Amino acid sequence: MTNYQFKLDEIIDKIREMGAEVVGLQFPEGLKVHATRLASEIENKTNSTVLISGDPCWGACDLSDREMEGLVDLLVHFGHTPLPIEYKIPTLFIEASYQLESMEILEESLKLLEGKEKIGLVTTTQHLHLLEDAASFLEENGKQVVMKEGAGTLKGQVLGCNFSSVQDLPVDAFLYVGSGNFHPLGIKLSTQKPVIIADPYLNQVRGIDEFTDKILRIRFARITRASEAGKFGVLISSKAGQYRWELAKALKKMINKEGKEAYLIIMDEINPSSLMPFMDLDAFVVTACPRIAIDDSKMYEKPLLTPQELEIVLGQRKWEDYQMDEIKY
Ligand code: SF4
Repeated sequence: MTNYQFKLDEIIDKIREMGAEVVGLQFPEGLKVHATRLASEIENKTNSTVLISGDPCWGACDLSDREMEGLVDLLVHFGHTPLPIEYKIPTLFIEASYQLESMEILEESLKLLEGKEKIGLVTTTQHLHLLEDAASFLEENGKQVVMKEGAGTLKGQVLGCNFSSVQDLPVDAFLYVGSGNFHPLGIKLSTQKPVIIADPYLNQVRGIDEFTDKILRIRFARITRASEAGKFGVLISSKAGQYRWELAKALKKMINKEGKEAYLIIMDEINPSSLMPFMDLDAFVVTACPRIAIDDSKMYEKPLLTPQELEIVLGQRKWEDYQMDEIKY
């Protein structure tokens, strides 16, 4: 039914060890469909009652610890590794790793890595366990594999807001094992090196250059449109791991200095309907998750910018120095 490893035995051991009576479960969007099955198994195998978080969740920056504080004895958070922030209740992080059915995509990736000797191997939380096998495979095929830990990330791990594990890595190209294009885009823009994607969900190997060009064209258009803006909303998320109050205040000052209006707006979840009452503003700057401005761009009527894009709008950064936004904890 599923290729995910939810480590049920580890969860049950932890519940028994703690004598937890109420257990919270939190899943990222793609894994929520497994929630009731896991809740049922946990309730059947322990004496605990399970409380499932139904709110959207995109990362370990967004734990439901505040909502569940006082309600649960233990929170089990699936799909992410902990961030260096303070969580309010005992939390067990389960990576929910995805099992590769075969090495076929790695074999396929060798064709696109031809002529490249030193390879940086990179992935997201769901595939961290594959890195060792992938590294051995590449080495057996004559490649030299280079990986390092990032600031707050494990060896070879990137987050959509943290590419420190790939920056300054002396490699000829990167092989990203995982799905989606956002992380490889971040690797490409952070390093300017070739990036090949081995996607186990689509069972496909592809490059990132075409996607990068497309996104940069869209970003250029958003920046151009925002250059005419007179009134900006600076959006702050109240989620513990996305909260950047000092940055937001500094951006407001920067905008005001150019003779433009800026308003600080805090909200939990940034989405098109939460911005509806603010349509008198011409553009928004997002200090929350960097993916919002880029990944969700098409959903918004007004331009959404990252802090670095605002600097370009205000003439404080050149387009040639375009950089992804990252959150430093
Ligand atoms: S801020 Fe965004 S990219 Fe960073 S961990 Fe949270 S959801 Fe992921």
